Amino acid sequence: MNIKTVTVCGSGVLGSQIAFQTAFHGFDVRVYDIDDEAIARARATVQGLQGRYQQDLQATPEQTQAALARLAFFTDLAEAVRGAELVIEAIPEVLDIKRDFYRKLGQVADPDTIFATNTSTLLPSELMEATGRPGKFLALHFANQIWVNNTAEIMRTPRTDDAVFDTVVQFARDIGMVALPLHKEQAGYILNTLLVPLLGAALELVVKGVADPQTVDKTWMVATGAPRGPFAILDVIGLTTPYNINLAASQGDPGRAAVAQYLKHYIDQGKLGVAAGEGFYTY
Ligand code: NAD
Repeated sequence: MNIKTVTVCGSGVLGSQIAFQTAFHGFDVRVYDIDDEAIARARATVQGLQGRYQQDLQATPEQTQAALARLAFFTDLAEAVRGAELVIEAIPEVLDIKRDFYRKLGQVADPDTIFATNTSTLLPSELMEATGRPGKFLALHFANQIWVNNTAEIMRTPRTDDAVFDTVVQFARDIGMVALPLHKEQAGYILNTLLVPLLGAALELVVKGVADPQTVDKTWMVATGAPRGPFAILDVIGLTTPYNINLAASQGDPGRAAVAQYLKHYIDQGKLGVAAGEGFYTY
């Protein structure tokens, strides 16, 4: 299928970025969100993204303005998806909210329209029945700051049509992503399947008193040639999310509780990572 028009549903952190990136690469993009307030926020976000594209990608003001001109905004779902070949969903990471959304979407979208979820932690098979079109549904997972961290993990369910999978892999390339196909479902996709245990092991080494963060990072960098070690990666992610994850897992697990406590010590001092100017390192 030839994709020309894309609707992005949910225009928060990721949805706004996906919409702008897609428009920047020449597609007509329709942005849907639940109310005027959310749309006003999205309009402000995409305006602001212009500067980031100019700074980080050396895009010209003409290019970013042309991208803005290709965006249209909607609060009516049926209107937003009319004529779109692809819908990318980036609404809250809550199973019931997503299922309810897909039931409504499936009723108003053209029968041939492909649906892709940007979910980080759910499996697309948990949503496929609600879409009413499991053959035309898969996951297309972007990373925050899509224009520089330009990975797109494309994950199919056992029921995704081959042609739909191939179309979305090609679409990801067409919007400037490095397309990373996953032929089977995997919680955490490829990246987090690798990264989460690495970061957990690094924190465990420090919390147990085996080595300090700088030595752990140095080991990883010198031995593997990686440009950053796990603690520098944690600074990029920000310490709040790993803290929340470890806190949630700490019930009955003293190791995870100790990791949460250790991260809290940094958070309480405002050392939240790169965004705060300091985490395990100073920026
Ligand atoms: P967000 O909270 O910033 O944005 C969610 C948007 O969805 C909001 O604009 C909200 O108004 C809108 N919304 C709420 N209910 C809706 C509904 N029923 N229909 C349509 N829109 C609705 O969330 P986010 O961080 O952009 O995350 C969105 C999705 O992207 C999640 O599935 C998340 O797992 C995934 N994701 C997030 C990141 C990240 O770093 N933030 C990275 C990769 C993937």
